[in-house]
Amino acid sequence: MESSQLTSATATELIDLLEGETVSSVEITQAFIQRIQAVDQKVHAFLHLDEEDMIKQAKSSDERRSQGKSLTRLDGIPVGLKDVISAEGQPLTAASKILENYVSPYDATVTRKLKEAGAVIGGRLNLDEFAMGSSTENSAYGPTRNPWNLDCVPGGSSGGSSAAVAAREIPLSLGSDTGGSIRQPASLCGVVGMKPTYGMVSRYGLAAFASSLDQIGPFAQTVEDAALLLEIISGHDPLDSTSYPSHVPSYSRELKAPLEPCKLGLPQEFFGEGMDEEVRKSIDLVIEFYKSKGFEMVELSLPSTDLSIPVYYVIATAEASSNLARYDGIRYTSRSEKASNAIDVYAKSRGEGFGEEVKRRCILGAYALSSGYYDAYYLRAQKTRTLIRQDFDQAFEQVDAILTPTSPTPAFRFGEKSDNPISMYLSDIYTISTNLAGLPGISVPCGFSQSGLPIGMQLIGQALNESKLLSIAHVYDQEHNYGRKAPSL
Ligand code: GLN
Repeated sequence: MESSQLTSATATELIDLLEGETVSSVEITQAFIQRIQAVDQKVHAFLHLDEEDMIKQAKSSDERRSQGKSLTRLDGIPVGLKDVISAEGQPLTAASKILENYVSPYDATVTRKLKEAGAVIGGRLNLDEFAMGSSTENSAYGPTRNPWNLDCVPGGSSGGSSAAVAAREIPLSLGSDTGGSIRQPASLCGVVGMKPTYGMVSRYGLAAFASSLDQIGPFAQTVEDAALLLEIISGHDPLDSTSYPSHVPSYSRELKAPLEPCKLGLPQEFFGEGMDEEVRKSIDLVIEFYKSKGFEMVELSLPSTDLSIPVYYVIATAEASSNLARYDGIRYTSRSEKASNAIDVYAKSRGEGFGEEVKRRCILGAYALSSGYYDAYYLRAQKTRTLIRQDFDQAFEQVDAILTPTSPTPAFRFGEKSDNPISMYLSDIYTISTNLAGLPGISVPCGFSQSGLPIGMQLIGQALNESKLLSIAHVYDQEHNYGRKAPSL
């Protein structure tokens, strides 16, 4: 089989080939490594690739299979990791200079689960430094480019994870989403990306940005593949005190059950100013499609929506300033050579090691938490966060899921927003409230702009009901399959 046939296949198709003994995991893995070697100079999705280790893992998988001892369906399938997810013995930079020489001493829970499933862990994927950003322009190692147009950003912060899947450099990948960092890059790169309910996937071994918002989730070409990866990584973990003690259904199997048409909410606050015309047209077609399938559209209101960005930038920066205090020039990190006393070690190592956006957020967060300001900023933000959640609670009394665009515009050009933090922050306007409310959200490709850039729709579901959310998304995806289109590189 041609190597390009392997790299353009979905994970589900690759599994069929493996199960039919048409190809081996070594052949699949080699095909992806070749593809990375051929196109990643242009895309720059990868920060690190351990080819030898991947082939070794693939060989073990083939041996297991030949003995009839495959571990799960995912056995032998390559999965890339955003460079904030620990994998023992592999570097983890968080795209920051400060972690330039850091090697993870242990596996994140998601990595352990993938290994136990037999997946081939492949490559470290680029991002905005410490996952702060929406374009990967904040990576200390240079940006990732959008495979559909190399002059455009892939979105962020998980831009490497989305671009790698879009460029067919890897069939599946994991990212993290604190305010949209899985869904927005998925949308801008034309792939599926999902943020699970807060607590569904363990955060153990994830370099923390904002702990009350961070969730790890899958990228794939199709909803079906995303469901498969999600069921492997989900589940309670005693090592993460916020992980939810619930049973994980087989999402990929439940996807096959017929879905009764249900009710989708259209929040008026998401359909106002600022939405690109082409995005609006694509979403209108999505609405028409669901109606034609018997779904009912319900116009509703989420009145606190306009508060979500300010609330997020108080809470996320406050948590970040505390989480990032651990990078102190003593543990984990490189130490400034200019330091001559203890205070210097701390100040200079951080000053040299962190990029501008990370510094901005640490300062903003420390300010919001400082005495005298705590009540005015942090406490108020927390109270407002409750209002945002209550909006969703009320909406879900009427509907089964909420439908919105994922991003107000298709991919933008490099430099277009990087000088103006506020305009960059606004690119997450449709995704952030989902994190504040702890709900699951998925971005599914739903068309292309006239200039050939992907457009994505977002479906937001009820907490802990990823099954239904995936099924609703699958109804659309299986008939349109926009994520199966590949850019020419
Ligand atoms: N773009 C948002 C930010 O800069 C969200 C990032 C994320 O989800 N990690 O904070």
